[in-house]
Amino acid sequence: MVVGSLTVETDVVVIGAGPGGYVAAIRAAQLGHEVMVIESRRELGGVCLQEGCIPTKALISASNYVHDIAHVEMMGIEIGDYSLNPQKMVSWKDSVVTKMDTGIDSLFKKYGIEVINGLATFADKNTIHIAGQSDVNVLKFKHAIIATGSSPVHIPDFEFDGEYIIGSKEALSPKEIPKSMIIIGGGYIGTEMATVYGKLGCKIDIFEAADKLIPMLDPEIVKVVEKKITTFDVAVHFNTMAKSAKVENGQVTVTYESEGKTLTKTVDKVMVVVGRRPNSNTVGLSDIGVELDDHHFIPVNEKMQTIHSHIYAVGDVAGQPMLAHKAERQGKVAAEVLSGLPSAYDNKVVPSVVFNDPELMSVGMTLEQATEAGYDAVDGKFPYSALAKSHFTYMPEGFIKMVMEKGTGLILGCHAVGPHVTELVAEATLAIEMGATVEDIGNTIHPHPTISESMMEVADVVLGKSIHIKPKKQ
Ligand code: FAD
Repeated sequence: MVVGSLTVETDVVVIGAGPGGYVAAIRAAQLGHEVMVIESRRELGGVCLQEGCIPTKALISASNYVHDIAHVEMMGIEIGDYSLNPQKMVSWKDSVVTKMDTGIDSLFKKYGIEVINGLATFADKNTIHIAGQSDVNVLKFKHAIIATGSSPVHIPDFEFDGEYIIGSKEALSPKEIPKSMIIIGGGYIGTEMATVYGKLGCKIDIFEAADKLIPMLDPEIVKVVEKKITTFDVAVHFNTMAKSAKVENGQVTVTYESEGKTLTKTVDKVMVVVGRRPNSNTVGLSDIGVELDDHHFIPVNEKMQTIHSHIYAVGDVAGQPMLAHKAERQGKVAAEVLSGLPSAYDNKVVPSVVFNDPELMSVGMTLEQATEAGYDAVDGKFPYSALAKSHFTYMPEGFIKMVMEKGTGLILGCHAVGPHVTELVAEATLAIEMGATVEDIGNTIHPHPTISESMMEVADVVLGKSIHIKPKKQ
């Protein structure tokens, strides 16, 4: 690789340094390839690290402390006066992000991966143009991995101004906590943000066009969150459409439609989180004959190859679900396939986690989905009120559900709302991938007292032999 001249050549080029791209780059380098990464932002880690998974969870963690401080008196802990310094909270969150960013940078250095800062577009099937400050503006490659991610969807009349009408990115660095905010969109990002801001003392209204929050998840687990979120000063307005916004005297007045009426509400800020669209239209794909699907994703096969077998696409740009762990898996597959390994993105399931209070997790099918798909299935439910650890950690809400195929005993799905359940979904995912039965989980010794016991407990419920709750009749 020759850097410094206008045209360089490399074996593998990766466009985008998010979880799909940086993982693909490291895996390709591990497999002996010369790798270059083109990234349009200065930092590494993509949306996930810079404005998604990590900073949101850092703020969730901080807001949980604020909330817990106010509620530990019952344990005999008297704290007295305390206050929140939003600027310090934001710098702490930024320091977490910087630590991870530095980690990726040092891994890149270890593997000899070169990063070019700029915006990449395909000139032809083996050439990329790079617009930016870098000396390099043309790159010739043997293999390319497109990992350009996604961007927030905007809605008419709610253009982001960075101050009054914002997206989730701007919401991560508040100078002060607003007194009131409307969040348009009740998906997982909207509800996580509502929980953060609600716990930090902001009065929130969520406007959701549908009749439930987080529609991608089992409505029964989401119901628990819908109820609890209101205790953080969050009001949820279902079947409600935001129509327009007017900024005046340092506030925003939103006109919206709800229950057939046109209404207005004035708040300090409006956050728009109505979904994300793939970054597929800025890479020059039409110039190399790659057509997008109806949802603007890049079509790929299970080896992550586009119609050109040496050009791959991974992560958010390559289809749903738009999740970091799916992007990472696909990044590894692309790097392994281009190295001639028999790798494929043939995972049976992709788990989901949402860091609401209580947390949510979901993998595989619900009973309704399994029945619709033609399975003869049954499910069982175990409440966290029957588990010791949820009591002494003061998180006794929620339940876990497991779905089993009758006859084979195979696990078809697992869904939970409750304490730290985001840590349980990997066990359920592994069980589904390995073709484990419900009995395998029930007969596995789970340590006591932990939340992980609920996996064993729910398996026993499904099998009709629960020790701690009355079993459901099969
Ligand atoms: P991205 O992370 O989007 O990275 C793409 C990179 O490509 C970007 O850095 C971009 O600058 C660069 N790029 C784009 N076009 C070009 C170009 N032409 N040239 C050069 N560079 C380019 N997922 C989870 O799994 N768990 C979570 O808890 C979670 N929380 C989230 C919270 C929020 C608020 C948001 C917004 C997202 C969250 N996500 C979460 C989703 C997650 O961030 C994405 O699924 C993940 O980042 C996708 O990874 P990616 O590699 O496909 O793309």
